[in-house]
Amino acid sequence: MQKLDLFKEQISSASSKRIIITTHHKPDADALGSSLALALYLKKKKHQVTVVTPSDYPSFLHWMKGNDEVINFEDKQQVDEARSLIGKADILFCLDFSNLGRLQGMEEAVKDSDAYKVNIDHHQDPEDFADFSFSSTKAAATCELLYDLIVKVGDKELIDQDMAECLYSGIMTDTGGFRHPNTTKNVHLVTAELIGLGADNSKISRLIYDTYSVNRLKFLGFALTRRLTILPELNTAYFGISKKDLRKYQSQTGDTEGLVNYALSLDGIKIAALFTERKDGVKISFRSTEEVAINKFAATYFDGGGHKNASGGISSLSLEDTQKRFEKLVKENKQILFNQLALVDEKNQ
Ligand code: 5GP
Ligand code: MN
Repeated sequence: MQKLDLFKEQISSASSKRIIITTHHKPDADALGSSLALALYLKKKKHQVTVVTPSDYPSFLHWMKGNDEVINFEDKQQVDEARSLIGKADILFCLDFSNLGRLQGMEEAVKDSDAYKVNIDHHQDPEDFADFSFSSTKAAATCELLYDLIVKVGDKELIDQDMAECLYSGIMTDTGGFRHPNTTKNVHLVTAELIGLGADNSKISRLIYDTYSVNRLKFLGFALTRRLTILPELNTAYFGISKKDLRKYQSQTGDTEGLVNYALSLDGIKIAALFTERKDGVKISFRSTEEVAINKFAATYFDGGGHKNASGGISSLSLEDTQKRFEKLVKENKQILFNQLALVDEKNQ
């Protein structure tokens, strides 16, 4: 039997299954939107579905249908229930990530599960952990893939307005508001269908992009004036945000989202980074213009990866030393980064 047929049989409404849907740590709109849309779909097919996220996520996503029932694995009050549900699951969906490491503290629980595993994702170099994988790096968003998958299994008529709004959100944000190079013809076709199914595009844009707290807006002003380093000779600009900065502006999950794009918005800048000091190290966001493959740089030097022009990584050095190392590595690799050659081996320097 073909893998797609087996998948269809697994999710068929003929027998009710216990299903867990999860996504990457600190879910974004694509991660949460795809998870909640899938939960709504599978509930219509009469399954018992729970979305378990490995952490909390920004409040500008809380309007999505099904948000109130999400279980947060990092919440001490909810972790036991989450473990028990994962242990009993018949089917386990992993959305919007390709490496189990991105589950962080939830990784072991998912690895230990004997459930039929499904991976729906658009990241590069997928790890082979799923029984059924619906993955393409050509897709702009997991939400785009999920829409295509639901259509492929013949259930387009089950997509309602709530699902369409969740799916629209992920496509809108992962294409940077339909501006990034991943904004393909298929993205516009799927988006048009979702609007036709009732997704209110202008409302969603406002809910996601225009619901800043006063602290978040003031933090943005502070970061732009005090924490931005511009290196014109390296076509690079970056922000470095300390724990103290985050405390001063009572930063909430999601408050630094989008900040890195301001560095890339500068004329002549091709590489942008955001270094954020967290309790477990320095979290890094990278962005680049179309010609620079910043994901290779993130994977080689910062234990990370992601998409060609939007990647992330981590550093165990201090914030200051991480920034110094980053500057040094960009300088050493300047010709290579901008001409897409092989990166320098840091150990042989
Ligand atoms: P963001 O900068 O928005 O947090 O992440 C941008 C993209 O980078 C994500 O969609 C994801 O593909 C990738 N990414 C972020 N952090 C990590 C990481 O620690 N490891 C890997 N492999 N990818 C990451
Ligand atoms: Mn995504």
